[in-house]
Order: sequence, then C-alpha cells, then structure tokens
Amino acid sequence: MRGFDTLIGQGALVRRLQQAISSGRVAHAYLISGAPGSGKKTLAFTFAGALFCQNLDDNACGTCRNCRRIGANNHPDVTIVRPETGRIRISQIRQLKDKFALQSYEGSWKIGIIIDAETMTEAAANSLLKLLEEPSGKAVIMLLCTSRSMLLPTIVSRCQTIPMRRLAKSEIADFLANEHQLPPETAIVIAGLADGRLGQAIEIASQENLAWKDEVLAVMTRREGQGLAALRLAAKLDAEPEAIEFCLRVLSSWLRDMLLVTSGCSQTEVVHQDRYPDLLALSGALNESVVMRAIRQVESTRRALEANANRRLALDTLLYQMADLTSFSPASEVYKYGKSSRS
Ligand SMILES: [Zn+2]
Repeated sequence: MRGFDTLIGQGALVRRLQQAISSGRVAHAYLISGAPGSGKKTLAFTFAGALFCQNLDDNACGTCRNCRRIGANNHPDVTIVRPETGRIRISQIRQLKDKFALQSYEGSWKIGIIIDAETMTEAAANSLLKLLEEPSGKAVIMLLCTSRSMLLPTIVSRCQTIPMRRLAKSEIADFLANEHQLPPETAIVIAGLADGRLGQAIEIASQENLAWKDEVLAVMTRREGQGLAALRLAAKLDAEPEAIEFCLRVLSSWLRDMLLVTSGCSQTEVVHQDRYPDLLALSGALNESVVMRAIRQVESTRRALEANANRRLALDTLLYQMADLTSFSPASEVYKYGKSSRS
C-alpha cells in the first residue's frame, strides 16, 4: 500500500483532493478535522507528497526523493507547525509567514501543516487569519484539529473543510485481519476499543496490549480469588504506568458492555464480542446502578491519576473495588497478600 491507499475508508475525501490536484484547483487552505488517531496527519502528509511527487501526478509514491524528504520532515518547502509546551504561539506563525513570503526553494509549492491548530493562542490565530486573507501563488495551509468548533469561525470560513470519516467497526476489523494478520475475533474487539479510529486500532493491536487486556478481563471474570488478582494487577501496573491508560479503557469498555447486555443488546453490539457468554452471565448478577457507579469510578480514577494522585493507592482501590463488583473477595485473602508482599 502506498500514498492515499493507506487511508482506509476515506475514499470520498481522497477523491476530492486528487481531483483538486489533477484539475489544478488546489485550495489555499484546508481544515482537516477528526478525533486523535483518525488519520489527519497521514492525509495531510500524503496530500503534500502528492503535490510534490516526482513519479505520480495525483498521489504520493513514497519512494522518490521528494516523498522521502516529506516523510522524514525535511523538505525545505514543507513547514510543520506544532504546539510547543502546549500552545502554538504567534512567533511560530510569524516564522511560517516568513517562509511563505520567500520564493519556494524548488520553484514549486509552499506548504504549511499546522498540527493541533486548536492550541493556537488568540494572537497566533489572528496572525494566521491575515495569511489566510491574502493567499498567494502556489501556497497551501493545512490546519489539523480535533473539532472545527474549536477554531475561530473567521478561520474556518476561509478553509475547505475535510472532516475525517469515523470508520465502521467492520472496516477496521477487516483491515487488522488482512494487514496485521490478527484473528478476526481479536480484530473485531480491537476495532471496538478504537472507536472508529484506524490509527488508534493499529496502536492498540500490539501483543503487549492484548496481554494487558486479558489480564484486566481475567480480574473482572474470575469467580474466586479476584481480590488478590486485582491487587497483583495493580502492583504490575504501578511498575509499568504507560499501560494504565489502556487498561482503564479496557475496564470502561467492559463495564459499558455489561450495561448493553443488561439492556438486551446482542453480541455484535458489544466491544468484547469474544467474551459474550461471560458478559451474559455477569450481567444477570448485577444491577445497572452498580455498573454506572463503577463507570464513574474509573473516570474519577483517571482524573485523579492525571492530577498526580498516589498511583499505587489509586490503582489498588479501583481494581479491588472492580473485582468486588460481582462477588465478595474474602478479606483474609488480601491480608495474606499484604503479609507476603512485605516479607
Ligand atoms: Zn513520490
């Protein structure tokens, strides 16, 4: 796969951009919006590649000198602007303007790609607005953002909008099964966790994450000893904090699945389709308000961890309570664990 072909499920947007290139009607500004992991950067860089590619007219070959330089972020006529310490400042937009004011190095396009455009300060946004108001020659600005409602309406109105499409679960699952050789029953679960975003799905689909998912769900589905398993998992996560966010996501999705099953949803409507029998068995034993409370608890733990709460304590508390949802974990079991971990 190469160029625009890597953008699964975005055919309509891709055709629009390719048509613009081949008819010589490339706009001066594009606003590419979509959730994180939805392919905004891939689209922007491929579009830039297609404008410069030495081998193809309306696509990026990925192998010519220009495509390789764009892929490596060192094409002299492609300027990337991204937040520094959380914001895009007016000085960065001024630098972009300076580059646009010069002749392009190679007598061709000048491209500015502004990543996380919603982080522009007011001054930066106003400065950019002037640039958008006075488009010149073969120059293209691409603004990338999560939602266009986060930008000044005056900026939005000067851009052609390119909303990334949220993919169907089956489209992502097919891709993972075909391109990443995952078993279909695993691919569909990952597609559900990724919530319509291909980039997220690819990120999630690692062996480590699949192992973490199984560990979290083991705690949630054990019939006995779950309290102890929960505390062991908390200890392991405390030592590998980069996995926490993913494990919390697995937990929330599992709890949501329980709610769905309680309200009569079928196997294809849940995320953890491969464990539907477990979900059915558990949902019979739970009431909705308990699950709702558990979902809120996962969220409040996430916020507490972001605010630098004591990590081990937060994980112990959350996971122990989750394990306790369906049955009683004998306190003696935990007491034993406490003793053995001290010795
Ligand atoms: Zn090329």
